[in-house]
Amino acid sequence: TKPLNFKQELTCVFGQPVAENPTQCMIEAAYKACGLEWRYLTIEVAPENLESAVEGLRAMGFRGANLTIPHKVEVIQYLDGISDAAAMMGAVNCIVRQGDHLLGDNTDGKGFVQSLKEVTDPQGKKIVMFGAGGAARAIGVETALAGAAEITIVNRSAERGEALVRLLNEKTEVRTRFELWDGNYTLADDVDVVINATSIGLYPDVDAVFPLDFSSLKSNMIVSDVIPNPPETHLLREAAKIGCPTLDGLGMLVNQGVIGFQLWTGVDPDPKVMRAALEEVFGV
Ligand code: NDP
Repeated sequence: TKPLNFKQELTCVFGQPVAENPTQCMIEAAYKACGLEWRYLTIEVAPENLESAVEGLRAMGFRGANLTIPHKVEVIQYLDGISDAAAMMGAVNCIVRQGDHLLGDNTDGKGFVQSLKEVTDPQGKKIVMFGAGGAARAIGVETALAGAAEITIVNRSAERGEALVRLLNEKTEVRTRFELWDGNYTLADDVDVVINATSIGLYPDVDAVFPLDFSSLKSNMIVSDVIPNPPETHLLREAAKIGCPTLDGLGMLVNQGVIGFQLWTGVDPDPKVMRAALEEVFGV
């Protein structure tokens, strides 16, 4: 008989606020489905406590962690190393323990590209992306590395938008330019993929109207939104009415979770189990 074991392997997410973050339910569903005695804790960490919290991970032998708002940039100084992609973006959303070392990676953009590939190959595509924050940087870098031909960054503040264009120009081969987002944006006819990487529509702002001239949206354009909660946003609702293929924020959330799960455990989880767990909590 197997010896009794009451000690599980630990993983977690640090954020503030963090109570609305649904990652625990999808990761724990996957642990269970894979027969792993692992846990995933949702932990509120204030910015001034981040260094001690990371030391706590080390001391307690956590196998891995996710970082969410506002820790993705600040955490880097407390780690033993980061991946090339994370260095390019200047942000870490996933810590993996290797021996005594805590290593940082960024799975947000890879998760996005993985879900985009379920409907189209980014190779050679013309993309319009709204937003220039952390999610947009990760998506911009990974879609560029996946061979996108052109990325137009549309952002409310010029400073962040132009900084992302500079980053993509310096670090990748993609053609890129910035357009200031002032009123309803009109899409060019030859756009292939439209991405919302802003927080417009995120709970509790669920009725937010997306500033787009919807008559410029054509039924052959793929429309994608990063908002996981609620997964159906104004942008996706309007796009579906026009007949566009749509991708919701749960796809990105699941796929970045799959990558983190593999890095922590070495096991491939079932994305369907993870999506089903999220759909259940969001009542989809
Ligand atoms: P940041 O705060 O870094 O960036 C927010 C971006 O949204 C900025 O470009 C900001 O523009 C823009 N923005 C916010 N409000 C408005 C508005 N009212 N009108 C126009 N632009 C606006 O956030 P993150 O990039 O970290 O996160 C963005 C979203 O992505 C969040 O909702 C988060 O939940 C989601 N996300 C989803 C993931 C998933 O797996 N599905 C993973 C990671 C993030 P400006 O520069 O002008 O302020």
